[in-house]
Amino acid sequence: MKETEPCGHNDTADDDRKLKERLARIKHTLIVLSGKGGVGKSTVAVNLAMSLSMKGYKTGLLDVDIHGPSIPTLLDLKGQLPVVNVGGIEPLECWPRLKAMSMGLLLHDDDQPVIWRGPMKGNAIKQFLGDVAWGELDYLVVDCPPGTGDEPLSVAQLLSGKSSGIIVTTPQQVATVDVAKCITFCKSLNMPVEGIVENMGTFICPHCSQETDIFSRGGGMSLALRMNVPFLGNIPLDPEIVQSGDTGKPYVYHYPTSKTAKRFEEVVAKIIERHSKETKAAMAQAPEEFLKVVVPGNGSQSPKKGDVMKFAVPTNDKKLCQHFGHCEAFAIMETEDGRVVSEAYIDAPAHEPGLLPKWLAEKGVQCIIAGGMGSRAKGLFAERGINVITGAQAEDPRQAVELYLMGTLETGANTCDH
Ligand code: ADP
Repeated sequence: MKETEPCGHNDTADDDRKLKERLARIKHTLIVLSGKGGVGKSTVAVNLAMSLSMKGYKTGLLDVDIHGPSIPTLLDLKGQLPVVNVGGIEPLECWPRLKAMSMGLLLHDDDQPVIWRGPMKGNAIKQFLGDVAWGELDYLVVDCPPGTGDEPLSVAQLLSGKSSGIIVTTPQQVATVDVAKCITFCKSLNMPVEGIVENMGTFICPHCSQETDIFSRGGGMSLALRMNVPFLGNIPLDPEIVQSGDTGKPYVYHYPTSKTAKRFEEVVAKIIERHSKETKAAMAQAPEEFLKVVVPGNGSQSPKKGDVMKFAVPTNDKKLCQHFGHCEAFAIMETEDGRVVSEAYIDAPAHEPGLLPKWLAEKGVQCIIAGGMGSRAKGLFAERGINVITGAQAEDPRQAVELYLMGTLETGANTCDH
């Protein structure tokens, strides 16, 4: 992209047509905004996008911050050059169902500031939006620079009628006019406000899990009430977030069972709920491939639409237990169309060789997700038509099943093959 001519060409009608075609394939666009920098807007954008993709939604993450792009760092994409072909700029495929593109990947020198005036930025963003070949997406999450300047304005205008705003703030700032400004910005552009996310208002002690208010609590909620917009939730201050951001490892993916990840999930659940009508209709038309499950090293399995499956996960204290034959209870989960629909914990029977295959088969279990299991036991389950996945890394049994169904369950060595 040239500094003097960010568009590269002037064929406005052609750009408009391309943009329209691209956007027609994106169901929902979530524009992440904040009044000020440093409140965690990019962190929230990355984790929302990751969470949506982990839930099975085809998601794109677009970073339009020309002056301070963070996404290449947060997703460890630095140095990767996007491929440009006749179809446009190919976004980078980061994880299953998550594609990302950042201005930062096109601006080659990290140390050089970009000095563009408003119209140049607007043109660059338009070209960027129209040229990135996202394909079909359920959600496009757009990370904007802070404030209500040229970039958010261009994005909101270009995505007019297709987008909603998510406003990220810290509690101290809620008291100021910044968040109100963002809300007014959305309203003046007729862009629905998805809601406010309050970030870093509380701290969860990594040792005792006690949650403590750092500043005043409830600022985000009361502002949401006052401005008549939804409150989406509170993300605690968590040192692991800084660590995972700096090392390019999305927090919700690497710490899926943590309290903080659950807070992200709650925010995402509210967003999905708001879009559920359209999303459900879209899911109903999703190709079979959407539900395909591939687990490296464990073979693959493809639940069909309408399939009901029953899973068993050995647990101690409601956490996946690595010693299959000595677990306290089994988490029994039923899934439908690739999602968990019921979950129950049943005490394991007294230890007796050869009993568990019969016991679990009688409960209708078709698949076991375990840490480790001996090869003889695996054979006994196979005789009863029960598939066994070993080496599961997830702690939370439900998460293990969900990740398995999404094809993203990490599996390592069979930890108990004696
Ligand atoms: P912004 O996009 O608003 O400028 P960033 O997402 O880049 O903010 O976050 C700024 C810094 O704060 C980063 O170092 C990030 O890791 C950290 N951060 C953001 N949210 C949290 C959180 N909930 N807990 C701890 N650190 C956080």
